[in-house]
Amino acid sequence: MKVARFYAPGDIRVEEAPEPVAGPGEIKIGVRNCSTCGTDVKISRHGHHHIRPPRVMGHEIAGEIAEVGQGVSGWATGDRVQVIAAIPCGRCQECRRGRMTVCPDQESMGYHYDGGFAEYMIIPAKVLAVGGVNRIPEGVGFAEASVAEPLACVLNGQELARVGEGDDVVIMGSGPIGCLHVRLARSRGAGRVFLVDINAERLEMAAGLVRPDAVVHGQDVVEQVLKLTEDRGADVVITAAASGAAQEQALRMAARQGRISFFGGLPKDNPIIGCDSNLVHYRELTIVGANGSSPAHNAQALRLIADGSVPVSDLITHRLPLAEVLEGIDIVGRGEAIKVTIEP
Ligand SMILES: [Zn+2]
Ligand SMILES: [Zn+2]
Repeated sequence: MKVARFYAPGDIRVEEAPEPVAGPGEIKIGVRNCSTCGTDVKISRHGHHHIRPPRVMGHEIAGEIAEVGQGVSGWATGDRVQVIAAIPCGRCQECRRGRMTVCPDQESMGYHYDGGFAEYMIIPAKVLAVGGVNRIPEGVGFAEASVAEPLACVLNGQELARVGEGDDVVIMGSGPIGCLHVRLARSRGAGRVFLVDINAERLEMAAGLVRPDAVVHGQDVVEQVLKLTEDRGADVVITAAASGAAQEQALRMAARQGRISFFGGLPKDNPIIGCDSNLVHYRELTIVGANGSSPAHNAQALRLIADGSVPVSDLITHRLPLAEVLEGIDIVGRGEAIKVTIEP
């Protein structure tokens, strides 16, 4: 079968590999869609300390069960499934308290285990043990189902930032994650949603699809947001961009008792920002992070897609065969697409 393996930064090879066999407690799936995101771009350029090469990449996975290993019950050949990316251990203090996104022993598909840029792949017993395989509802395609994983992360972020009824929400960054944030905020009853980006072209493409109440672009984004919110500021500001400047701006455009989600992480070598602590103090701001998603978030994301609360099919702008996965990752890196999905 064909796979796309990471060997080193700048060295990802599409090559032949033996078809895997499902061991005890495992499931083998035929991958139908594995979508790409900024994480794949980061890995392709810089590698990742959790990836020991060679490793099949791809973590936004949907497919059809091809083989059920010994001792696995509840699943059958031909079942259509979506798979989690972040695998909590299920046993530590955090996991037992239901805080699976911050499990210190978390592993990931495409990092510790071979991922979805392959014709076939194995779902480890560990994934099944934490309920990490979801049946794809009737009427939801494989490509849409593969977007449940990033939507699950977005859902975790908005739960932590308590996005709710009537909130003015600012999303900084108009990539696929920013677009999902706009759609999810709407479905949670947000009042107005404003979309910010420094890349005018990408902002226009995204706004055409997800229709924010206004777009914000330019040097004075804080002032523009204050003007749009009658000087109150935004109830929730979400930074869906790896930008310290965006995080600093987010703090300055938050309303009293506002919540700021540092959804996107910063580069490892430059993670320090300036924060006026008195803004946080007097305005009673809450700053929250976001680290992936739990199995439960994945299941809920799939339901939100299935019942139409968060449509995703129109966000999938490119569909490419596995042989063109490098081109797909490049398209994402250049910011020319919303969502690129690979169809092995
Ligand atoms: Zn991703
Ligand atoms: Zn754990």
